[in-house]
Amino acid sequence: MRFVAKQPKEGINVSDTHPLVEAGTLVAGLTAIFVVIALALIFMIEVAMYFVSAEDEAKLFDNWLPDDLITVSPDDDRLSEAQLLVDRLVGHWPDAPYEFRVEIDDSEISNAMALPGGLIIVTQGLLDQVESENELAFVLGHELGHFKNRDHFRALGRGIVLSVFFAAVTGGDVASIGIKAADITLRGFSRRQETRADEFGLLVVQSEYGHVDEAWRLFERWNVDDSRLIDFAAYLSTHPEPRDRIEDMKRHAEREGWPVEGDISPLDW
Ligand SMILES: [Zn+2]
Repeated sequence: MRFVAKQPKEGINVSDTHPLVEAGTLVAGLTAIFVVIALALIFMIEVAMYFVSAEDEAKLFDNWLPDDLITVSPDDDRLSEAQLLVDRLVGHWPDAPYEFRVEIDDSEISNAMALPGGLIIVTQGLLDQVESENELAFVLGHELGHFKNRDHFRALGRGIVLSVFFAAVTGGDVASIGIKAADITLRGFSRRQETRADEFGLLVVQSEYGHVDEAWRLFERWNVDDSRLIDFAAYLSTHPEPRDRIEDMKRHAEREGWPVEGDISPLDW
């Protein structure tokens, strides 16, 4: 008897489901897998980072700068003044494990951030808006608070994962964490981390000037003047609402018995 191979039925490899539905399921499935992997990676990195001391962090990120950061001229007066001010403020944190470096981001958008290794970045846009040294001292003191509590370093786990994913999607460079990834990452600070950073900021301002006058004056202006919204939107996306923040800061100063009035130091530029 001869075996005769039968032709398979037409369309045997075609599923009954509409191809678009199948594609949708595939995309949703892959996205879910991606998200789960990203979350697992973030968790593992955050656990690992728990064991990295601030001293090791300072060594690891010695002289590091984000690749995509565009700074103002090194001769800019504001740079040396801001650095001097940070050095004075750090005097009230005697065993600080970092050598703090200030860089000014050549951006018109107001923002300030704490990055690994003791790097503090303030934007040109923020410096344009501060009207006294006391106002600036608080903004810088707040960022010092993030170093004190090591919030910035824990956020780095997220930053690393984010930049790897960015690089995978855009075909860019994985080697470093750019300022854009850092910016998105820092939006993840909790309200509690922000409050503690504010309290540390107030403490160094009080220690430096003997009062906390004008510590929150910048936020008071932002709170009432909506026309500036566009300028400080970036700062607000990484920091709490001015209104709540001012209330909390006032209460904290009162609790600590810190004077809310005193001599104001002008800016030197
Ligand atoms: Zn903050």
